[in-house]
Amino acid sequence: MPAVLIDGKAIGLKIREGAKARTAVLRERGIVPCLAVVLAGEDPASLSYVSAKERALAEAGMESRDIRLPASTTEAELLALIAELNRDEKVHGILVQLPLPAHIAEDRVITAIDPAKDVDGFHPVSVGNMVLGRPGFLPCTPFGVLTLLRELHIPLAGAHAVVVGRSNIVGKPLANLLTRKDVNATVTICHTGTKDLARFTREADILIAAAGKPALIKPDMIKKGAAVIDVGVNRVPDSTAKKGYRLCGDVDPAAVEQAGYITPVPGGVGPMTIAMLLQNVVQAAERRTI
Ligand code: NAP
Repeated sequence: MPAVLIDGKAIGLKIREGAKARTAVLRERGIVPCLAVVLAGEDPASLSYVSAKERALAEAGMESRDIRLPASTTEAELLALIAELNRDEKVHGILVQLPLPAHIAEDRVITAIDPAKDVDGFHPVSVGNMVLGRPGFLPCTPFGVLTLLRELHIPLAGAHAVVVGRSNIVGKPLANLLTRKDVNATVTICHTGTKDLARFTREADILIAAAGKPALIKPDMIKKGAAVIDVGVNRVPDSTAKKGYRLCGDVDPAAVEQAGYITPVPGGVGPMTIAMLLQNVVQAAERRTI
């Protein structure tokens, strides 16, 4: 039997409706959750991510402060802008779209954001809080993946989760969240130094692919019936497509015959990332008003 296709759009919508309802409560008190969205440069993928986030914020009744900067913006200019947004009482969250132009140190920019406004969850204070299990903002994509698994009631306690990828924004935080006591999965992290990747992926009850490599995970690398979460978003050239490329994940589409559950790309993890961002923004606004 082919895998159940996970509808990230539908689950994401449910989360977005929740954020919208919380926003309505804040609005009644005259507070409008506001996210400052900073984009430096004109990377086409970043432009489309930023527009999708801004559309979702508007639909939920939130505001976005859209700040577009030229690629030539200096690090000092960007840091001065962050300092200004940190001070601005009307701004509840700050999102700096990555990647930044090569001459700007992402690390310094992220660290400059007030952790109380760090709705992306990338600030070292947010990361520390996550690792220690303290309240704080969780990074949107890993939080979205965990929420998907929970919403689908996929058994996590005692399950073996294999995460392919160890980036700071996806692989590492996701592995961390899955090992939390209230989740209780046993986690293996794979990366480019892993010898014989398939040996590990075949053992996974839950396989999370976050490598950014098109169709890296082949059907014979998946345990029959496993839940497969494909985080990858890769642009592959396609002359038949209007834009000249199509999006594909890190999992070979033929894996649908082997997996028990699988997320499509697009329409799986992507909509969850946006939904969790909205949830973090409304949470930031609520916290400031307590
Ligand atoms: P990244 O920073 O490039 O990290 C990729 C990770 O995968 C690295 O840890 C790398 O290992 C590992 N890797 C690469 N090739 C591998 C291989 N052949 N075997 C085993 N491990 C391998 O990427 P990222 O930012 O985490 O993003 C990963 C993917 O998710 C990308 O396609 C990105 O577009 C997508 N993404 C999607 C969303 C969404 O909302 N849907 C959000 C964020 C990212 P090393 O550490 O050894 O180099």
